[in-house]
Amino acid sequence: MRVIYLMLLLLSAAVSAKEEDRYAKVQIEAKAVAEHIYMLTGSGGNMAAVTGPQGVLLVDAQFAELAGKINAKLQQISANGKIATLVNTHHHADHVSGNKVLGQGVAIIAHQNVYQRLNADDKFDKKGLPTVLLQQPLQLMLNNVELELIPMPVSHTDGDVVVWFKQANVLHTGDLMFAGRFPFIDLKSGGSIAGYIENTRQLIARIDDNTKVIPGHGDLTNKAGLQQSLQMMEETLALVQSYKKAGLTLDQAIAKGLGEKYKSWHWNFITEKRWIETLYQA
Ligand SMILES: [Zn+2]
Repeated sequence: MRVIYLMLLLLSAAVSAKEEDRYAKVQIEAKAVAEHIYMLTGSGGNMAAVTGPQGVLLVDAQFAELAGKINAKLQQISANGKIATLVNTHHHADHVSGNKVLGQGVAIIAHQNVYQRLNADDKFDKKGLPTVLLQQPLQLMLNNVELELIPMPVSHTDGDVVVWFKQANVLHTGDLMFAGRFPFIDLKSGGSIAGYIENTRQLIARIDDNTKVIPGHGDLTNKAGLQQSLQMMEETLALVQSYKKAGLTLDQAIAKGLGEKYKSWHWNFITEKRWIETLYQA
């Protein structure tokens, strides 16, 4: 008994050391995309920061373990590095786990369904719950940067918000875009395949060829990148629907695959198999 207990202890210590290690290696990088606007990357969903003397508006918070590094980076890039406002694009852990540290004492703004989901989640630290709940678009002004938080119809989840910097011509899509990769559509959290595709069309209609697009995951991109995502989704959906129409089971559809053209969109989280499983539910 005691030996097993000791082994379990050692095992859990090894696991948590590995977790710490995972964050220890992560660097927070900041890329200027417009005056007073940065894209920040580390581990998890891409962040954006509005910087300047009035403090920082941060879009998404990644993981609490990275909060120290995120704050240090904000000190470097902003005249006043103190966070004034935190925005969550949706409820997934890689976008909100840092709320409990980075959102302390400031307004945390999110879609009202994000509040409902996080409040019902036992694993979520309630210190990080959103305090301003959106149902309608909200305009904000900070450091002379104008931005609009726009709740979107169901797509990645049922609580997605995109951030539109109209003057600066920058769009943060949250997870309404995975640049160059098959997207995650969280059907269990109210997401919708048809909604995801339709919202991509809506975003394309809103922007122009010079718009800088910060995707939820992947590299900084633009309208052409969103158009490629849209085309990929339309074509692969039509393909999987043709398989279903021909009577293929899900396993047969997976075995048939999507062909050479979409190989590069496959990644460790949303593999070709998982994307077919998603599309098969449409
Ligand atoms: Zn997500």
